[in-house]
Amino acid sequence: MTRIIDGKAVAANVVEQVKDHTALFKQDTDRVPGLAVVLVGEDPASQVYIASKSKKAEECGFHSVQHTLDADTSQDDLLVLIETLNADEAIDGILVQLPLPEQIDAGKVIQTIAPEKDVDGFHFSNVGKLTTGELGTGFVPCTPAGSMLLIEMIHGKDLSGLDAVVVGRSNIVGKPMASLLLAANATVTIAHSRTRDLPELCRTADILVAAVGRPQMIKGEWIKEGATVIDVGINRVPAPEKGEGKTRLVGDVDFTSAKDEAAAITPVPGGVGPMTIALLMANTLRSAYLRAGKGTPN
Ligand code: NDP
Repeated sequence: MTRIIDGKAVAANVVEQVKDHTALFKQDTDRVPGLAVVLVGEDPASQVYIASKSKKAEECGFHSVQHTLDADTSQDDLLVLIETLNADEAIDGILVQLPLPEQIDAGKVIQTIAPEKDVDGFHFSNVGKLTTGELGTGFVPCTPAGSMLLIEMIHGKDLSGLDAVVVGRSNIVGKPMASLLLAANATVTIAHSRTRDLPELCRTADILVAAVGRPQMIKGEWIKEGATVIDVGINRVPAPEKGEGKTRLVGDVDFTSAKDEAAAITPVPGGVGPMTIALLMANTLRSAYLRAGKGTPN
C-alpha cells in the first residue's frame, strides 16, 4: 500500500506546537512573535499567498502586519520600509513576497533584510549557515525545511545509505533541499534542465524531490519501486472536466502513475504546500526566541 503523505495534517501539528510555544513565550517575555509580510503590486497568486500567511500568523497568536505597496513603488521606498522593519523591536520575521516588479532588484531587497529576521532563509548569511551546517542560529527556507520534515517522518533523521535525487536547482527550493539531505547523510544528486537522461537518474533515487515547475513531468516509470517521492511543484492547469475556463492544481510528478511505484508520495494540493506556511510560522517563532536570547524551541 502506497502511503499518501498528509502534509495538511503534519502542518497542522507544527502550527499547534507553534501556538503552544507562542503562549509560553508570551508568559515569559510579555510580548508575542511579530511577522511582517510585504507585497508589492497586485499579482493575484501573490495576494492569495500573502493573505494566507497573515491569517496563519494571526491564528498562531502572532503580531501580524501586512504592507501592501503599489506596483510602481520604487526600490528606494521598499528599502526604506525594510530598514524600518529591521529596526522595529515588535517584528521578528520579515517576508517580502516574490516575484517583485521589474524596477526592483529582488536580490538587493533580500540582502537588506536583517539576517536575524530573514525567516525565508534567503539572505547570504543564512544560505552560508545552511551550507556549512551551522543550523543552530540560521534560517532554512520554508519549503525545503517542510519537505525535510515529511522525509524525516518516513525515514527518520539519519538518511545514511540512501540515494536522493533533487530535480531543480533554484536557490529557493532545489539547492537548500540538497543541503538538508546532505546534512542528513543522504548521497545527493542535483538534476536540472541540462541533466542527461533524467528518467534514468530518477530511477536511482530512494528519495526523489521534484522542484521543477513543469506540470506532471515526472512519470511513474521514472520512479524506483519503493521510493519516497516529494512533489514540491504547484502548477495550475486547465480542467475542462470541471467546466469551461476552470483550472486545477497539479504537481511536477504525474501522481496517478507515480503512486503505483512509490512507497510514499506527497499529493498536490495537500502535500508540501501547507508545510511551507507552517514552517514560516515555526521560523518566526524561532526568530523571536533567538532575538530574546532564549535558545530555540524547535
Ligand atoms: P525555478 O523555476 O526557480 O527552478 C526550476 C528548476 O527546474 C531549475 O533548476 C530548472 O533547471 C529545472 N528544470 C526546468 N525544466 C527542467 C527539465 N525539463 N528537466 C530538468 N530540470 C528542469 O522554480 P522553483 O524552484 O522556484 O519552484 C519549483 C516548483 O516548486 C514550481 O512548481 C513552484 O511553483 C513550486 N514551489 C512550491 C512551493 C510550495 O510551497 N509548495 C514553494 C516554492 C515553489 P535550470 O536551472 O537548468 O533552468
